[in-house]
Amino acid sequence: MKERKISVYVCDRCGKEFDSQEGCEIHERNCIETFESATTERLAEFLEGIARSCDLYARPAFTGVPTQTFKSAMKEAARRLREGQK
Ligand SMILES: [Zn+2]
Repeated sequence: MKERKISVYVCDRCGKEFDSQEGCEIHERNCIETFESATTERLAEFLEGIARSCDLYARPAFTGVPTQTFKSAMKEAARRLREGQK
């Protein structure tokens, strides 16, 4: 009997699974993450990641983050802040 191990690569943004690392990387670059249903911890981690990228790059760069993902995170963060005030 032969044992074969299969690696599965999972998109960090949406959880979609791929059998090749390359396929997953290509997908991740274009994957739009929305935050409406994300946990507050996930949203906070994303925002902290953006803050870290401001330290790493001279111009605040959101390297690899699609604009739509960034917009979704900001809008959802703002909504939750307002909600927390009530
Ligand atoms: Zn994805």
